[in-house]
Amino acid sequence: MSENLEKLYREALVWDAHAGVFPGPEVDLNLLDEWRQQGVSYLSINVGFDVMAWQETMATLAAYRRWVLDHGDRFVLVGNVDDIDRARVAGKFALSFDIEGMNALNDDINMVSVYHALGVRQMLFAYNLNNAAAGGCHDEDTGLTDFGRAVLREMNRVGMIVDCSHAAYRTTMDLMNESSKPVVFSHSNPVAVWNHQRNICDDQIRACAANGGVIGLNGMGIFLGDNDIGIDTMLQHVRYVSELVGSAHIGFGFDYSPDIDVDIGVILRSRPDYWPAGQQYDTRDIKHAGPAQLPSLVEALAGSGFDDEDIRGFLGENFRRVATSVWQGS
Ligand SMILES: [Zn+2]
Repeated sequence: MSENLEKLYREALVWDAHAGVFPGPEVDLNLLDEWRQQGVSYLSINVGFDVMAWQETMATLAAYRRWVLDHGDRFVLVGNVDDIDRARVAGKFALSFDIEGMNALNDDINMVSVYHALGVRQMLFAYNLNNAAAGGCHDEDTGLTDFGRAVLREMNRVGMIVDCSHAAYRTTMDLMNESSKPVVFSHSNPVAVWNHQRNICDDQIRACAANGGVIGLNGMGIFLGDNDIGIDTMLQHVRYVSELVGSAHIGFGFDYSPDIDVDIGVILRSRPDYWPAGQQYDTRDIKHAGPAQLPSLVEALAGSGFDDEDIRGFLGENFRRVATSVWQGS
């Protein structure tokens, strides 16, 4: 990397909109050091998803929260964008939590502000399958339910980012039409580049951009291509979205997890319906790009004509714009 690019990367706000660490109270969050060491400034880490009972999500959130507060020399649980800036000045790693799917609410709208108070700043409406609020991307294509609409209004009110990843097409279009604030796809790639049900079509990308939102590029090999995490492949996804809606609507949500000592096979085998056949989930040794790829990606982006402002936008400024608008609430 040239000296200029190295400086740009070192000084940039680097935002990873979603980690794919398999959530559970027993996870040792020292694994977050990998993000720190790669120069990431802020990470949204998942504390639950629809496959888990809501009580397990709450137990995970409680454990993560206590761990982060207990490791204040290195980590800061942030509630707004100013907190992230303060953490960077202090040389600390900023994080907040996300939840993948509305089963975590246990059908109770009051839970939105409870999660918010505990540090959740981003929620997905569904995780692959339909739930009481919304449709999932591997299920019948349904829109928001009345409960889902009430959740959307409450999230806009308290200041939580609406995340369309993993949701059904109609649900995402409802969210983008009806949200009073920008929404994101925190970890989704364009289907036009790689055909997968988890990826999103041009309509969704255009609607996301039209409401001021951002699409976070996912680093998982089966969403990027044929288990392909080559820099050229990642570049192709960035270029596609940029040509469609411009560079102000692209970020990164790598969905990355370091290897952890948790037998995720137990859950995968108990609920295979969440990861249907024919969608590459049974690929052996799924490859995964993460923050470690960022320097080479930055170099490739610069080499293919993106300027410094574009690159700073991709690295974090675009997601900062959304968070600044959303997290203050209304
Ligand atoms: Zn996900």
